Amino acid sequence: VRALVALGDGTVDLASLPEPVPGDSELVVRPLMSGLCGTDLELIDATIDPAYVRYPLVLGHEWVGRDDEGHLVVAEGIVPCGECQPCRRGATNLCETYDEIGFTRPGALAEAVSVPADLVHRLAEGVDPLDAVLVEPMAVVWRALRRAAPLAGSRCLVVGDGTVALLAVMLLQRFDPVFVDVLGARRAQGALALHAGARHFSNAPADERYDLVVEAAGHPDAVTTALGSVARGGTLVLLGLPPHGSTIPVAPDQLVNDDVTLIANFSYTRQAWAEVVGLLDAGHLHPSFLVTHRATLDGYATALAALRGVGADEARGKVLIEL
Ligand SMILES: [Zn+2]
Ligand SMILES: [Zn+2]
Repeated sequence: VRALVALGDGTVDLASLPEPVPGDSELVVRPLMSGLCGTDLELIDATIDPAYVRYPLVLGHEWVGRDDEGHLVVAEGIVPCGECQPCRRGATNLCETYDEIGFTRPGALAEAVSVPADLVHRLAEGVDPLDAVLVEPMAVVWRALRRAAPLAGSRCLVVGDGTVALLAVMLLQRFDPVFVDVLGARRAQGALALHAGARHFSNAPADERYDLVVEAAGHPDAVTTALGSVARGGTLVLLGLPPHGSTIPVAPDQLVNDDVTLIANFSYTRQAWAEVVGLLDAGHLHPSFLVTHRATLDGYATALAALRGVGADEARGKVLIEL
């Protein structure tokens, strides 16, 4: 099978690998398409913490494929041990043994991948693969929003304009907000934000305060802006991952006086996957409008260039590779 492999020395290459042999309670899935994200660039550049990666690595952790019966399937990336205390209480994102498809085991930027059968979610007939390919990032956002549990009629702000931010705008609509505003740096993302359901897209913070603020830019300044935009009694959700060790000034008395709830979200749980798959199956989620760039495996260099911001004055949602 052909696969896109990160070698660990800053380079990536197409390779021909043996057909995967499924282990006990694994099954082989044929990926149809795999999304790429900033984390893949860190994996390629080998700038990620070495504890979270095993090279050479077949990339691909946001994907949809077909099982051997021809059903459309997605698979959770984190492989929970099922035994540790976090796993037993359902916090599969916090499993004490880190193992993840596309990080420590081969990913889905390949013509075939072997995955643990219990991580596989079969999708209903009629679900569009172009919607399903976004389940992984949607599961991250969905888990965070479920924790925040905004009331109907909430005034919401999303800080950031990347795919995760835009998915947050779309998924917030499930909670009947009165509006969702977006604060983003790249004007070219405005149309995607409006399509996702935003009321306004702006690149300068307003004086307005919001019941729910979602930080999805992953930049310390964006966190500061987000914190300063929370209304009294409001909630701040941190979804973006700022650079390791970065800090921001915080006035704790303000947080207390304003009765702020702070939620910081790491990844997704099995429950979040099940819920997102349920929403897709019911026809409630159609994020495919966010796919702006598609390439073949042979055209991977074009996809990576788009992801690195070549042509950054154009709108960029999800960049994906079709297998
Ligand atoms: Zn990703
Ligand atoms: Zn565990």
